Amino acid sequence: MADTLVLNTDGSPVSMLPLSVITWQEAIRYMVLDKAIVLEWHEDWIVRSARWSTPVPAVIMVKEYMKKKTAIRYSKANVFLRDNFECQYCGIDVNRRTATLDHLIPSSMGGKSTWENSVCACGPCNAMKGNKTGFKPKKLPYKPTYWELVEKRKKLPFNLSHPSWSNYLG
Ligand SMILES: [Zn+2]
Repeated sequence: MADTLVLNTDGSPVSMLPLSVITWQEAIRYMVLDKAIVLEWHEDWIVRSARWSTPVPAVIMVKEYMKKKTAIRYSKANVFLRDNFECQYCGIDVNRRTATLDHLIPSSMGGKSTWENSVCACGPCNAMKGNKTGFKPKKLPYKPTYWELVEKRKKLPFNLSHPSWSNYLG
């Protein structure tokens, strides 16, 4: 669950890929351990135990700088992001539900799950291509940089658990 956005000491999210969000229980733990300050609250969401009650933090900022990871993981979601959710064969726009991952060289022929062998495809193109080779994607697949993917991610909508989050997502 994404209840609380976690910011670094510089005021930007600790991570963008994926977005650094935690559950309200984890957010309360940060507060109890005095490891973060709360910048925004879910004003109308109060949690209670026998001894205390508190609104749930919506945005917290850690007190100690957390080193940013700029390594990117090969994943379906990141391949789709690199390709702008556009089918690399027919150019149609797809979304998280309709996008499929296509291996240029099919797995059945020894094709690997790598950045260079994977493209975003729509269902019909993927089905038509099947286990054949020789289809040319619009753009030759490549390994993107972390910052390229972050910029692309910022252009897509986020599920905001609190309206104030949009102030911190750049
Ligand atoms: Zn297509």
